This record gives sequence, C-alpha cells and structure tokens, in this order.
Amino acid sequence: MREQPENLSEYYVLDGMNREDKKPPYQASYPSEFMDFAFKDTIRRRDSRICQLCGTKQSEHKVLYRKKLSIHHIDYDKDNLDENNLITLCQPCNCKVNFDRRNWRHYFEIKQRGYK
Ligand SMILES: [Zn+2]
Repeated sequence: MREQPENLSEYYVLDGMNREDKKPPYQASYPSEFMDFAFKDTIRRRDSRICQLCGTKQSEHKVLYRKKLSIHHIDYDKDNLDENNLITLCQPCNCKVNFDRRNWRHYFEIKQRGYK
C-alpha cells in the first residue's frame, strides 16, 4: 500500500505557521512536499526512527519497503498536527491500527503521555 498524498490540508496549516513567523515570502513558494517531509522527519527523529509498536528500525524499513517509516495520526484526524497526536510506525503496523481504531487510539494516547 502506498502512502497517500493525504496531506493537502497539512500544507495549509504549515504555510499559515510560516506566515506568522514572518519568514521571507520566497520561502512560501517551497514545494509543499518539502514542508511535509521536514515536518514528518521531526517526528521520526523524536521517535528515534523506530516503529513505536514493533520496534522496526527505519534502516530495515527502507530495505523492506523502499520508504521511510510512516507517521500515524493517533486520533485519525489528518488535520491534527499536534506532535502528541503523531507517532512513528512501520508500514504493517500503520495498516494494523486502521482496524479496531478506538482501542488503538486509547493505547497510543496513554503511550504518548510519556513524552510530556
Ligand atoms: Zn511496526
């Protein structure tokens, strides 16, 4: 399963943050993918580039799936970019958490409290 280009709304959020930071206007013309990758990498780094469910390392993941680890939205709301709502998962785990959503959300919310 390919990672969807799910995140058009995320770009607008990030773009808005930029404007508030009063960055020069030319930065607003960066491709939205750039912002998306940079932001997701911040979350991957926080999670030590390891799947937070099964412990698969990003280096292994890249060999197996030819891509970086996925970022999962704990409340299943793609617009919620609070870093406590985001967690690094490998591809199989990210598929797994799409079932039984209520229980997974509960699980991750408890787990994320450890970051505060
Ligand atoms: Zn995993």
